[in-house]
Amino acid sequence: MQTANRSHRLFTMGKWAAGFIVASSLFSASYVTAADKPPKLVLQITVDALRGDMPERYSHLFGKGGFKYLMEQGVYYSNAHYQHANTETIVGHTSLATGTVPAAHGMVGNVWFDREKGRQAYNIEDANYHLLTAGADVDSDTELDPTQKAAGVDGRSPNAIMSSTFSDELAVHYHGQSKIFAVSVKDRGAVPLAGHTGKAFWFSKATGEFVTTSYYYDQYPKWVQEWNASKPALAWSGKAWELMFEPSAYLFGESDDKTYETNFPGYGRVFPHPFGSAADNKYFTTFLTVSPVGDELTLNFTKALIANEQLGQDDVPDYLAVSFSSTDYVGHLFGASSLESEDNMARLDRTLAALFRYIDDSIGLKNTLIVLSADHGQPEVPGYLHEHGIQHARHFDTEALDKTPALAAFKKKFGIGEELIETYSQPYLYLNNDLIRKKGLDQAEVEKALATELVKFDGVAAAVSSTALRTASLPDTLLMRYIQNNFYSERSGDIYVVFEPNIFINDFDGLSVASTHGSPWRYDTYVPVIFAGAGLKAKRISRPVTPYDVAPTLANFLGIKPPSGAVGNPLAEVVGK
Ligand SMILES: [Zn+2]
Repeated sequence: MQTANRSHRLFTMGKWAAGFIVASSLFSASYVTAADKPPKLVLQITVDALRGDMPERYSHLFGKGGFKYLMEQGVYYSNAHYQHANTETIVGHTSLATGTVPAAHGMVGNVWFDREKGRQAYNIEDANYHLLTAGADVDSDTELDPTQKAAGVDGRSPNAIMSSTFSDELAVHYHGQSKIFAVSVKDRGAVPLAGHTGKAFWFSKATGEFVTTSYYYDQYPKWVQEWNASKPALAWSGKAWELMFEPSAYLFGESDDKTYETNFPGYGRVFPHPFGSAADNKYFTTFLTVSPVGDELTLNFTKALIANEQLGQDDVPDYLAVSFSSTDYVGHLFGASSLESEDNMARLDRTLAALFRYIDDSIGLKNTLIVLSADHGQPEVPGYLHEHGIQHARHFDTEALDKTPALAAFKKKFGIGEELIETYSQPYLYLNNDLIRKKGLDQAEVEKALATELVKFDGVAAAVSSTALRTASLPDTLLMRYIQNNFYSERSGDIYVVFEPNIFINDFDGLSVASTHGSPWRYDTYVPVIFAGAGLKAKRISRPVTPYDVAPTLANFLGIKPPSGAVGNPLAEVVGK
């Protein structure tokens, strides 16, 4: 099928090119616009949890050709913020892919309560499509990521994403002739960017391989089988994550041992962090992903993909999305201000440089339009802020929530207490709507009363009811707009709970981690947006932009229509005025 497509493509391009030559000889050369010569490859990089200040902050460790290539030779937007409240991974990745907010694309959180299924559901789970590798499903014994464990089935697809992606528009525009791929350690880092038309691969911690589902393929391409059979992850067996430089080179060189960092048994909270042996340590692959090695494996697989799928080798633009996940996992365990995060940035810089070098050699950076951004930022660990005199920062104590008399008050008022709440799936509280109906109570009244109680809790900044969102009866503040932008009625819960800045729940499925993003506050909404390659001239721009502008900018640059739900706008410094 692929071969037939390719020869057809060459034929049609040949005809089109011939027609164009005639046209341009008859008329003036001013017909030649940017869209006449599109880039051969669009490379969309997402760095999971790369807060907007992190590239500058850690730039003293950067070499040539990685972050510095982007920051010094690209169009660098230093003031980009998301405008949705739940700054989680699937939400940000889908917003980058679609150019819109969760209210339009439907991805309101990593996990939501599925009222039809009567259980929590994982964002991209899909029972109709199965993993192509037996035993590659999430291993609930060793999986540290609680959102992954919420999936009821091993299947994954983009079917729950309600708007088109840039990659979809590319496929439609070029009549299916663009090659479209996405790669990440996390399934939710790859699936949204591949869109409904491309192919997605992600890392299975259970097998140490890159996997996909029957949505994308009936069977693995031969090169994927070969890559997996060579077991690249095993090269790190018995090794450890060690510092790249002498401690004196780092801002946090003398601050490695901090009690507020996560001390995961066997991995520890100081360098070197041992991976253990692949044969004996059931957390071996997990440890790789909470170190820069996860990104290095992603790079290794991506290079094989570019070579074997021959990306960027003809005049129809191809699309490749790569999402690097290590920065997020390292941030959760050790915090954004830690020796681990600092070293991870130095190593990510080398990983980016290796990717750009590889693309320059095989396709040419001048033929490649690159954009780098992040799916969300990250907070500081409360313990770190305490060291600097910011005392109010803390982890929210969910136990304390249970001990309060609020539910008793409810029982008194409505005749129902604890059974009123179906579940709390951050950031939403889901009510037992059937019970409310059965009791003949007014849903709006119950929501309002509960929201009123919730804001009384110390550490809760706002509690917003769905009824208020549906009827648009909220004050026009930034926070309320962000919550509204996150509201997709079939999936959002009945009350949105917002914690005060620097106060968050740090429970990662029983494991207490150092920090958790997901708030509407500036440290979580702040991300870099940098375009480079394809002949762009260096520029640094501080005016406010949003990551929703990324997909419409890519579309406009290529002269194709924006994704269906896009609310962002093409960035003038990239596409021309
Ligand atoms: Zn993320």
